[in-house]
Amino acid sequence: MANNITFTMIKPDAVRANNIGPILSMMTEAGFRIKAMKYTHLNKDTAGKFYEVHKERPFYGELVDFMSSGPIVAAILEKDNAVEDFRKLIGSTNPAEADEGTIRKQYATSIGENAVHGSDSDENAKIEGDFFFNNLEVF
Ligand code: GDP
Repeated sequence: MANNITFTMIKPDAVRANNIGPILSMMTEAGFRIKAMKYTHLNKDTAGKFYEVHKERPFYGELVDFMSSGPIVAAILEKDNAVEDFRKLIGSTNPAEADEGTIRKQYATSIGENAVHGSDSDENAKIEGDFFFNNLEVF
């Protein structure tokens, strides 16, 4: 059975563009409930650890620089079929390929600076949520 939580970040580009509010609205209007949330700032070390699975990819350095370039919003979200439904809501990694009505279509500017993160599996949703939140911060 599909798990009912996913993990998201509103990335530094979207925070700089003052789009935290509208992006959170799209998430809650799509039926996601906020279980945990914090406004924080990754440094190169923590951004590097979070994205360690991409260490061998050519864009890893750029990704770490970007994700540590300003504050982010991190959150755990709840909904039936959360991981899959949230990936649909955020749209393709590259905003040029994202469907109308998706968060990345509306707010992302490039394949790197793409406004939001969404977990790609139930297993990663748990790992990523645990990276940011302890059990006193999840409701
Ligand atoms: P996602 O699951 O849709 O976020 O995509 P991936 O897991 O493939 O990549 C993780 C993140 O790395 C993306 O959300 C982008 O921020 C970044 N990224 C992916 N591909 C590229 C690329 O070609 N160039 C750069 N600069 N960043 C990329």
